Amino acid sequence: MDVTRRTFLAAAGPALLPGPVARSRPADPFQLGVASGDPTAAGVVLWTRLAPRPLAADGYGGLPTGAVDVHWQLAADERFRRVMRTGRTVARRASGGSVHVEVDGLRPGTEYFYRFRAAGEVSPVGRTRTAPAPGALSAPLTFGAASCAHYEHGYFTAYRRLAEQDPDLVIHLGDYMYEYAPGRYRAAGGLVRTHTEGKCQTLADYRRRHAQYKSDPDLRAAHAAAPWVVVWDDHELENNWAGDSPGSPGVPGFARRKQAAMRAYYENMPLRRSARPRNGTIRLYRRLSWGGLADFHVLDTRQYRADQPCHDGARADCDVRLQQGRALAGPAQLRWLEAGLRTGTARWDVLAQQIFLAQRDTRLGPGRQVLLDTWDGYTAERDRLFRRIRSAGTRNPVVLTGDIHTAYASDLLTDFDDPASARVGVELVTTSITSDGDGYHDPAATAALRAENPHIAHIDQRRGYLLCRVTAAELRADFRTLPYITRRGAAASTAASFTIPDGARSLSGS
Ligand code: FE
Ligand code: CA
Repeated sequence: MDVTRRTFLAAAGPALLPGPVARSRPADPFQLGVASGDPTAAGVVLWTRLAPRPLAADGYGGLPTGAVDVHWQLAADERFRRVMRTGRTVARRASGGSVHVEVDGLRPGTEYFYRFRAAGEVSPVGRTRTAPAPGALSAPLTFGAASCAHYEHGYFTAYRRLAEQDPDLVIHLGDYMYEYAPGRYRAAGGLVRTHTEGKCQTLADYRRRHAQYKSDPDLRAAHAAAPWVVVWDDHELENNWAGDSPGSPGVPGFARRKQAAMRAYYENMPLRRSARPRNGTIRLYRRLSWGGLADFHVLDTRQYRADQPCHDGARADCDVRLQQGRALAGPAQLRWLEAGLRTGTARWDVLAQQIFLAQRDTRLGPGRQVLLDTWDGYTAERDRLFRRIRSAGTRNPVVLTGDIHTAYASDLLTDFDDPASARVGVELVTTSITSDGDGYHDPAATAALRAENPHIAHIDQRRGYLLCRVTAAELRADFRTLPYITRRGAAASTAASFTIPDGARSLSGS
């Protein structure tokens, strides 16, 4: 036990100190770590989930019936000499032992440290940060973006390398966990570890799967390093689900799975109470401001969409994808987005969303093949999105994307078939943390695909994360790449870098 843990225990009074019979102590309830999220200029949400036996079959993590007292501290320093806030809450078994504390009244643009205490144990220490004061433009922002971390496909080294960059903020774009049964989704390099049994179906299944993912020390380190802004994609529930439609037609019980998945997602993520599931929905689209520098518009491209056209795969012959009126973000979310873009005054508008936005034709030469789970399966909705971004007069739109297990950088064009058409903004696609195994970089194939899609400037099929450094003058995006993830300990390096000057709305020249 280090000094800080001892101090916190002593402050609690002798009743909570470990007794002399150390072997009779219950297991550490903080094995799933700590996290923080959704910072404002005045506050942040602190998260933990008590689980002395994280993989207990009933999904309750070994938590006793009823409620457990949880104390928390927030300090200005890592050793908790200057404690700024303290509080008490309870972890309930019915809530899967999860704790979401919304701290308010903090100083803007300030680093804080936090920890919890329960059942005589003290949690690891997390670091977090508040956003700068409204309008503040001078302090640079460093944020990371990540997606797609299949537990069986590799080690979460990329999360560890991201944490080591001391980002101010981490944006997670979805596929935080995968619902598949063990071995159901195989990567080229084989599987390095095994999912909990069965495909996730029940609340207990989803809770245990989340617990298994957070048993990974690299993931816990990344959560403890910075506040996260999270949004789901499909695998937190089921591959390629869309609105009220399951990923595979005819599989019964989707509504029940969806309820279970969204509840487990809320319980396991550093989300504010405003995201607590209600009436079969979870409100994940939301806005965060980082001073006057950046507004983050977090989009949910799963919950409000029409089913994928012509089934879900890569297709050459699907006209349904071109039909008017098929929703992806949906009208309410698009209206909300445009209103935020219109009234916002930030230098950069970052749209944090899930699926590939630019057109992507994977058939070389004549004809076209597109992936129908992406915006290419909903082209009229993409046009509506672009019209709203342009009519709002957005100065610097930057779209963040995950899902595709490949790093991409693209210009967004009003007409992708006309390379001279107006630029809407840029899209930066982060590759996966582990999904699809070690991956590869094939310069010849990449060049051919870029020739087919001239608006695409960068493609890399290795694993990693995206690191962005934002100032009033420019946004620099570093594609951080790991040579392997099927063994531990890989270093990360920058495989490609793009600098987007204020007002450019394009990668060209960078
Ligand atoms: Fe994925
Ligand atoms: Ca083609």
